[in-house]
Amino acid sequence: MQNLLHNLNPEQLAAVTLPAQSALILAGAGSGKTRVLTTRIAWLIQTAQVSPAGVLAVTFTNKAAKEMMSRLSAMLPINTRGMWIGTFHGICNRLLRAHYRDAGLPQTFQILDSADQLAAIKRLLKALNVDDEKYPPRNLMYFINGAKDQGLRAHEVEANDDYNRRFVQLYEAYDNQCQREGVVDFAELLLRTYELMSRNQPLREHYQARFRHILVDEFQDTNNLQYNWLKLMAGEHNAVFAVGDDDQSIYAFRGANVGNMVAFEREFRVQNLIKLEQNYRSHGHILDTANTLIANNSKRLGKNLRTDAGHGEPVRIYEASSDIQEAQWIIEQSKSLIGEGALRSEIAILYRSNAQSRVIEHALFTAGIPYRVYGGQRFFERAEIKHAIAYLQLMDNPHNDSAFLRVVNFPTRGIGARSIEQLQDAARQYGISLYAAVPYVAGKAGSSLGSFVKLVEGMRFETQNLPLQEMVKVMLDMSGLIPHYQTEKEGADRIENLEQLVSAAMLFVNEEGFGIDTPAFLGPKAQEVAGTPLPNGDELIDADAPLVTVMSPLSAFLSHASLEAGDNQAQAGQDALQLMTVHSAKGLEFDAVFITGLEEGLFPHENSAQEQGGLEEERRLMYVAITRAKKRLYMSFSQTRMLHGQTRYNMKSRFFDELPEAALKWLSPKVQHQWFGNKKSAWDDAPEVGANNIAQSFARKDVGWRIGETVSHQKFGEGVIVNIEGGGTNSRAHINFGKHGMKLLDLNIAKLERV
Ligand code: ATP
Ligand code: MG
Repeated sequence: MQNLLHNLNPEQLAAVTLPAQSALILAGAGSGKTRVLTTRIAWLIQTAQVSPAGVLAVTFTNKAAKEMMSRLSAMLPINTRGMWIGTFHGICNRLLRAHYRDAGLPQTFQILDSADQLAAIKRLLKALNVDDEKYPPRNLMYFINGAKDQGLRAHEVEANDDYNRRFVQLYEAYDNQCQREGVVDFAELLLRTYELMSRNQPLREHYQARFRHILVDEFQDTNNLQYNWLKLMAGEHNAVFAVGDDDQSIYAFRGANVGNMVAFEREFRVQNLIKLEQNYRSHGHILDTANTLIANNSKRLGKNLRTDAGHGEPVRIYEASSDIQEAQWIIEQSKSLIGEGALRSEIAILYRSNAQSRVIEHALFTAGIPYRVYGGQRFFERAEIKHAIAYLQLMDNPHNDSAFLRVVNFPTRGIGARSIEQLQDAARQYGISLYAAVPYVAGKAGSSLGSFVKLVEGMRFETQNLPLQEMVKVMLDMSGLIPHYQTEKEGADRIENLEQLVSAAMLFVNEEGFGIDTPAFLGPKAQEVAGTPLPNGDELIDADAPLVTVMSPLSAFLSHASLEAGDNQAQAGQDALQLMTVHSAKGLEFDAVFITGLEEGLFPHENSAQEQGGLEEERRLMYVAITRAKKRLYMSFSQTRMLHGQTRYNMKSRFFDELPEAALKWLSPKVQHQWFGNKKSAWDDAPEVGANNIAQSFARKDVGWRIGETVSHQKFGEGVIVNIEGGGTNSRAHINFGKHGMKLLDLNIAKLERV
């Protein structure tokens, strides 16, 4: 067995071999945080301080979890497949599958992705005859998710006026609808698990006794519920090893709370705070660029990064006249990198918003360069795949009304809007699912709906005991989807994608067991490890047995389809250029990186201009982008750009003024255009959050605003607080200002009044 430790520097070594107590590793990008975390797992197992079943590791993406598993198997002769390494959502899914009854869920509960969730909310509002201008579905979704991320059920949210009481009622009605249909949204996965573990002491103690070591990567992006969940799982005695970088906190808009790092130090009684300051990823000029930029932020926990690598190449900056020309330039530069021997997969093209990728994709396509887009339209989000998945969902759980409505008349089988209305009335009357309500519909509508039910029953019958990929094939044949698309003019691509779904199912079963996020095994002798009998031993009698007993391959595959982030199956495995948003590049590294569209309004993004701390968050995002690069870094901006059907004339990003000239090489003359002048921008009106250290700010008194409260703001008028993060002088609130939209405001700075 190789020596795990000999490649580490002294600080990394100290971190890896810390005693079994909670610890915080606070370190900048590329300093080896993820490497340290992975090595620590291997070291703990190798030195027999814990068995593989006693480790719980939380990563930020499924991709990162897979990578961690493969690194671990390279370090140790163990099968990592059954290990509990995954995202918060993946791990919660696994727990809920194993204890669905205690959690009050059907065994085949299904997961709503954000698009499904929004559709479910729209359906709810329609069914309840709610005015969706007054109560926009998207705002209700933010309200619900915001509350869930804080751990609040509808009855726990305080509402002081009619408008808010309505929001709360709708939240309640939404939860009831989900429960009836056997579906859970992303936030619910966590909240359900949290409630299950809080309520059920024996179960909690079982898992606390089992997971002696909990390790969390990208800790700066945990939200309050995730933090409390960790506290619960850790109990009094387990060691939580958290690694993170406050400078890379980029999910505040989703409720992430960087203040958790400070709270963690205190509440987990951290005795070991280790900083790693040696960067192993980037050449000097790139690192200088990152360090100089981020020094402009005021709220930092404070740390530095240095490298032993030389300066390397300067950072190249290009000004294009149009977005099309920008794309051309990227292609020329990529070609010459490939000519020098670079792997295509080691070149990343990053952008702030997904909409920017279209022009670049078009240019790459025309130039015949293979590329892969992450996080654009995902394979499982394509319309034809959604239809196929809906059939599979009905086979697994016919009470999923969303799935029912999606395909009851697709392909068309003469079931019109009126029949559906009749059916919905019946379902409402008896409080049952649409599927169950079919027998209550009379006449012609009843008989055509009845045939649809027979079709689904037929699919279930025909596919009993078939392997997953065969199930998918039978479904494709019986549903009529393929013949439907054969008659469509551009149906060939769709049919190809549907066939791809069969391969995806095969891949899922063969290569990944049931995927990392879904349990193949509970791990060796969970009960023995735990030393406590399980309250519901009937579900975990033999913890070594495959969890197929708890979850069918079909359920596992459907969870995978909802949880798997951004992977386009069709292009997997090819050596291709990597296109993605800066957000999805977190934790990754590439030999060469292009940061594109560095223009005011785009990056920093215009939406964040109104929000307190918005600019600092954009700067952290820029820091993440820069620090992805190992050897070459390119930045570009354009004078004009077509976006959302409009030509925009943008100023170059203010971030260029914050970079060290000595590290840069301007490829085009640095001209000051008229429109680069000193125009007052929206930012100037938004005071920056004070330079106080987060640690200090936590000591201060809370300001006493409540979720659900109506407030008034000088500029935005009346709004409703839908979420509050942080505490003390670090309190910020997501406030829904109706036609002005959702804003994130610093509660200590924004002049708000109670209404
Ligand atoms: P990020 O903040 O971007 O997630 P990180 O701190 O997690 O970065 P890693 O991804 O773990 O950093 O490491 C960055 C790179 O440096 C990796 O390629 C890793 O293999 C390498 N590396 C880390 N530590 C060492 C070391 N002691 N010797 C050589 N290479 C190292
Ligand atoms: Mg990392």
